[in-house]
Amino acid sequence: MYVWPFANRSASSRPRAFRYERFGGIVHLERPRALVFVDRDRARRLGYDDAPNWSDDSAGAPAEALMEHVLSGPLEAHLQLTNRCNAGCQGCYTGATPEGAKNEYGESDWKRSIDALARRGVFHLALGGGESAILPWLGDVAAYARAQGLVPNLTTSGLYSDEELARLCGWAPLFGQINVSIDGVGEDYAKVRGFDGFAQADRAVVALRRVTRHVGINCVVTRASFDALARVFAYAKKRRLREVELLRFKPSGRGSKVYEQLRCTDAQHRAMLPMVLGLARRHRLRVRLDCSYTPMVTHHKVDQRLMRWLAIYGCAGGDLLVGAKASGALTACSFAAPVEAKVDEIEGYWDSPDAFGPFRRWREAAAEPCRSCEYLTLCRGGCRVVSAHVSGDPAAPDPECPRVIDWRATHGTPARTHLPIV
Ligand code: SF4
Ligand code: SF4
Repeated sequence: MYVWPFANRSASSRPRAFRYERFGGIVHLERPRALVFVDRDRARRLGYDDAPNWSDDSAGAPAEALMEHVLSGPLEAHLQLTNRCNAGCQGCYTGATPEGAKNEYGESDWKRSIDALARRGVFHLALGGGESAILPWLGDVAAYARAQGLVPNLTTSGLYSDEELARLCGWAPLFGQINVSIDGVGEDYAKVRGFDGFAQADRAVVALRRVTRHVGINCVVTRASFDALARVFAYAKKRRLREVELLRFKPSGRGSKVYEQLRCTDAQHRAMLPMVLGLARRHRLRVRLDCSYTPMVTHHKVDQRLMRWLAIYGCAGGDLLVGAKASGALTACSFAAPVEAKVDEIEGYWDSPDAFGPFRRWREAAAEPCRSCEYLTLCRGGCRVVSAHVSGDPAAPDPECPRVIDWRATHGTPARTHLPIV
C-alpha cells in the first residue's frame, strides 16, 4: 500500500500534473500533497478532454471496476541507488554490504532510468539503498528527478559521518519527504538491527528536522519491538516529525535468515490495527502502513469504501509501484526478485503480457480463502514475498493473514508449510 491519500473527492486545489487512466485519471496535487483518483466525469469537469483509451467498450462501467485494471504506469518507483552500507543490520532486506553489489548503476544510469519513469508517468521516487546518503551524486539525481517532474523522497539510516550528514542536510529541500529508519527507541533499536545505532540515527533526525519539516521515521516492526511501538510514536511526537511509517518485517535479503525469529506473531498481527489507531490518535501523528499489512487491516472488517478512500491497497507491486535493484534490475517491489528487464526498459516491459508474473495474476491465481474473500480486490491475496518464502509459491494466500490462518485451522490445513506454526 503505502497509504497514498488519494480519493475520489474534490480535486480543486493546485494540480501539479494529471495522468490519464481507463477509469478517468490521477491528479497530482501540490497542496495538500496527494494523488487523487478521479473518474471520467470528474476529469471532464476539471477541463481534461476525453482520452483515446476511454473506449466505448468500457463506457458506462463503474469507475471502481475500471480501477481493477493495471494502471498505465506505476505511481511510485523505489530505487535502490546502491547496495553499499556499513551498518550490517541482521535483517537487511537487501543484504547490503560495505562493498555493495557488482555492476551497480551510476549517476548517468539512474538519470536515464528517471527519464524512462517520467515518460511512463511516474509521480514519486522512493530513493534508498543500501545507504544512498553516502553517494556524492545523490543530490544531483534528486535535482534531476525534480526537473523531470517527479518528487524524490528518501529513506536513510542516519548512520554516517558528520560530513555526510551535513551534505544531506544541504540537499534536504530537494526531497518531498525524508524518513530516517528508526526501528525502536534506545535499546529497542538493537533488538531489531542487532546493534545499537539509535543515538546516531536520532542525531540525523534532529539535524534534518532543523532544515526541513518533511521528516518522518520508517519503523520495521518485529515481534521483539512490537510492544515498544508506543515509545516510537512518543519519540516521533517529541521530535515534531510528520509521519511514522510501519513496515512488516519481510523475508528478503538477510531478513530471510532471521525471519522466523523476528516476524511478528499472529496475536501481534491481530492486535496491530487497534493499537496503531490508538497511538496515532493519542499523539496526533500521520501513520502509513506498508502494503503487506492489508490483511491485518481487513481482519477488523474495515468498511471497503473507507479503505478505497484512504487508498489502503494490498500487494501493489508491478502495478501501483515498482522497484529497482542497485544493478538497475526491475522488480515488482523492493522485496521481490528481479524480472528480466532493467528499470530503464520499463516502457517496453510494462505492457508485455507476462509482465510481473504472479503480481499481476492475483485474481486468477487466488486460492481459498482469498478466492471468496470480500476484500480480495483490495488486498490481492496479501504479501507475495512472504508467501514465496513460506510456501514456495508467491501466488499462495498470505500465510500470516488472520483469515487464512483461521480458514486453514477449520479445514485441517497447516498454517505454514515450510516453517513451524506459532
Ligand atoms: S510483495 Fe506485495 S505486499 Fe509484499 S511488500 Fe511487495 S508489493 Fe507489498
Ligand atoms: S483472505 Fe486473502 S484476500 Fe482476504 S484478507 Fe486474507 S490474504 Fe487478503
